[in-house]
Amino acid sequence: MSAHATPVILPGATLGVLGGGQLGRMFAHAAQAMGYFTAVLDPDATSPAGRISHQHIRSGYSDAQGLAELARVCAAVTTEFENVPAASLNQLAQTLPVAPAGSAVAIAQDRAAEKAHFVRCGVPVAPHAVIETPEQLAAVPADLLPGILKTARMGYDGKGQVRVKTLEELAQAWDDLGRVACVLEKMLPLAHECSVIVARGRNGQIVHLPVQRNLHRDGILAVTEVYEGNLPLAQAQQALAAAKSVAEGLQYVGVLCVEFFVLQDGSLVVNEIAPRPHNSGHYSQNGCDVSQFELQVRCMTGLPLVQPRLHSASIMLNLLGDLWFAHGDTAQTPAWDQVLALPGCHLHLYGKAQAQRGRKMGHLNITATTAEAARATALQAAAIVG
Ligand code: ADP
Ligand code: MG
Repeated sequence: MSAHATPVILPGATLGVLGGGQLGRMFAHAAQAMGYFTAVLDPDATSPAGRISHQHIRSGYSDAQGLAELARVCAAVTTEFENVPAASLNQLAQTLPVAPAGSAVAIAQDRAAEKAHFVRCGVPVAPHAVIETPEQLAAVPADLLPGILKTARMGYDGKGQVRVKTLEELAQAWDDLGRVACVLEKMLPLAHECSVIVARGRNGQIVHLPVQRNLHRDGILAVTEVYEGNLPLAQAQQALAAAKSVAEGLQYVGVLCVEFFVLQDGSLVVNEIAPRPHNSGHYSQNGCDVSQFELQVRCMTGLPLVQPRLHSASIMLNLLGDLWFAHGDTAQTPAWDQVLALPGCHLHLYGKAQAQRGRKMGHLNITATTAEAARATALQAAAIVG
């Protein structure tokens, strides 16, 4: 359906989301707050978003009947994760607005296609080689080592990645990953990581959240810090410009997160994109006057985009299931009452039935007037739950 011909979808309509995880849940919360009804498509009866949505269609993401039902009840559809088959988005797009488009999601699903897109946009990427065949494996230049072999598809939170130092280890790792299509990336000397969330409307207008500084532990995002001066200004400006050109190059409609490595020499390398709101943008729920989830609603409905404003120094702490096992092997609810006694602490839990180590259970947004105050509160909060 031609996006330009589509009228604005006003509150009162039903908005659909493919995927029932925490991102779908927070999208549904934002949409509901604005007066929309929501429908979630997810096979899991206990999915975080399915539990709070007005409608929950329990079907697989390629199920023609489930998709038809979603199209029937919704005025527009979005996605909360990138591994939705692009064909499903394309099927839905035949009868209603879908943002982001299947073509953009297809690129984000595949690290090799993603890297090729970055190169097309002229943004710097890590030295890398695509490995799909034994011939490509044999031709890998030795100067890509030590490196990280990453499956081209379906990786997340550091899963599907093997660090390799030698050509022998590389061959073994590719075997261990089942010889699926992979990208070998040179291991880079990271100073830190950052990300930018942009939202692009049907009319091509782009707004953005402030550049986020991210700390990962074991391949999983742990902390995001956003305040004046969190990154040198030139780096932040470069990241923002690169994120905008990546979105424009995709003719993207929706919320897009672009992740970067900042190298020890201060240079910036784009890492990957997520065609949806992102964990590193959660602080916007409490630190900005427009959250990334509200931006998602505005993009898919054709509502005007307004430039979000950061009104508080913000720190986001991810709450992994490990916190439930801080005192032993039996899951125990952390002392949220003590955490919530701290000023500027905002608790977001995803309603997952079972805590598991490594599982994202929620996050804590900490807001304050200064970065120092936010950091002091974050340390206190971490001491209570950790
Ligand atoms: P995922 O899709 O699992 O988020 P990423 O490619 O973002 O995968 O990798 C996860 C983390 O691993 C990154 O945030 C970074 O900390 C580290 N990492 C990934 N690639 C490199 C690299 N080329 N050099 C150094 N560290 C890397
Ligand atoms: Mg990543």
